[in-house]
Amino acid sequence: MIVAFHRGTAEADVQTVVRTLETRGLRTARSSEPRRPILAVVDSVPDDVADTLEAHALVERVERPRGTWRRVDRAFRDSPTVVDVGGVPFGGPGITVIAGPCSVEGKEVIEEVADVARRAGAHVLRGGAFKPRTSPYAVQGRGAEGLRQLKAAGDGAGMPIISEIMDAAHLSAFVDAGVDCLQIGARNMQNFTLLKAVAGAGIPVMLKRGLSATIAEWLQAAEYLAAFGAEGIILCERGIRTFETATRNTLDLTVLPLLRQWTHLPIVVDPSHAAGIPALIPPLSRAAVAAGADGVAVECHPRPKEAKSDGAQALLPGELSTLVAEARVVGAAVGRSFAPRERGAHAS
Ligand code: PEP
Ligand code: MN
Repeated sequence: MIVAFHRGTAEADVQTVVRTLETRGLRTARSSEPRRPILAVVDSVPDDVADTLEAHALVERVERPRGTWRRVDRAFRDSPTVVDVGGVPFGGPGITVIAGPCSVEGKEVIEEVADVARRAGAHVLRGGAFKPRTSPYAVQGRGAEGLRQLKAAGDGAGMPIISEIMDAAHLSAFVDAGVDCLQIGARNMQNFTLLKAVAGAGIPVMLKRGLSATIAEWLQAAEYLAAFGAEGIILCERGIRTFETATRNTLDLTVLPLLRQWTHLPIVVDPSHAAGIPALIPPLSRAAVAAGADGVAVECHPRPKEAKSDGAQALLPGELSTLVAEARVVGAAVGRSFAPRERGAHAS
């Protein structure tokens, strides 16, 4: 249950309500919403307590829970959350583009891709260093060295970086390298030990939707992050497993208007891992922006045939530039601006 007090309610009065709830064994969480006090009661609320809260003179509204999540529920904030990734905002008025190779393949290639991404107008550089490969014989990633190479390339281009973490034991490597956003991949969406570990790292987290996860399961995973202290959480729809085999996965754009009602978190769409086919990625990106995505995440490579992973779905540099330009146009048509690249030291 979420309890929003009237603006200007005194802190002492809020604390009185919190203590009363505690005497009934009910735990609360406090929203970071600056305009008014908002509490979530994380345990299920008995009817008599719910009735008392609803009738309380200082309470403006009470929302009954939709699921077991509370902190990520739309009602927990008045306005949507904006997540700052190394100076780049996700959420708010702008559309943000994440671009880069599937995996970091070495210093020269990642610097080349960073330059491509920067010139195209992308905001955040992606690249996997610890890769969740379906085959144990496929390239597994360059590990901590790859993170350092990604960071150096991002710094050179004036772009923050995002990379996937698969194991809590690797967290120090991500912190040491200065990774700006931790990606939880689809395969680890419900790795609750990992979620708890990354939540406390003080670094924003992008949580990809699990291969066969329902929206409720996805939000419950996001709630783990929020409950264990994550400040910045971004959701990423990357396609789900369906009966269809013509594409790698099925991109579920339904989540965009639906999650707008259910959560205050920003939502990014990754059409690369959804479609797996380069020609489908630009139209799906346009559709995602039109349907309300806060950003898109795409894979690109200067020479896709040489890519060590996911080359078959990588966009060419020119295709990335067109995609970013189209995201800008479609975004404008639906009332979104293009987020400025605030760290863009090299405007071209
Ligand atoms: C990736 O982003 O490189 C990746 C492996 O994505 P997903 O977890 O969505 O499969
Ligand atoms: Mn990939």
